[in-house]
Amino acid sequence: MTKKERYQFVIDWFEKHAPNAETELLYDNVYQLLVAVILSAQCTDKRVNMTTPAIFEKYPDIPALSKATFDELFPLIRSISYPNNKTKHLIGMANMVMDDFGGNIPDTVPELIKLPGVGRKTANVITSVVHQQPNMAVDTHVFRVAARIGLTTNAKTPLQTELQLIKMIPKEKIYIAHHWLILHGRYICVARSPKCGECGLRPACKYYQQLIKA
Ligand code: SF4
Repeated sequence: MTKKERYQFVIDWFEKHAPNAETELLYDNVYQLLVAVILSAQCTDKRVNMTTPAIFEKYPDIPALSKATFDELFPLIRSISYPNNKTKHLIGMANMVMDDFGGNIPDTVPELIKLPGVGRKTANVITSVVHQQPNMAVDTHVFRVAARIGLTTNAKTPLQTELQLIKMIPKEKIYIAHHWLILHGRYICVARSPKCGECGLRPACKYYQQLIKA
């Protein structure tokens, strides 16, 4: 199977079996998504979803969050990973949006990554989920699943994975492909023991082909 055929198989399979894949983070608007994605670093979506309702109730928008103090916000974030940094990042992010972007969350990757707590992955999530821009956020699941299937070759960093994937996936499918790969990694192609027996991607998967050869 050529790389092109592999991509085609994988895209066709996901389009058939996960046509509506989307983020598992709960949000109503770009502000809420940005807060949730910043909080989700090194933390499960489930835990973030338990945390955000109280934050959004107390701080319903960027202006409200920009006025929060560390001592007020920290208790709402205490139960998730890296609460100190994340509290500082959220307040810093809201202040920069107010001061440098007129209170509007920017919609480009170069602008978003200027915000505290926002790296390339977060910026790619925001621009692809909210604006359907053809940007691929690569987290640990995307990195692992893409490599196992053979969608990437010798990718050593998330950026290399991102560049290889966006080169091969049709532009209009990139934003949903991110969710396909994340969800597949979360529930089927899990890190320690991938559930290959339940996986419909076996005919196209390099890892599986090597497994049966061995
Ligand atoms: S066949 Fe196995 S290794 Fe390949 S994508 Fe499916 S679960 Fe992952």
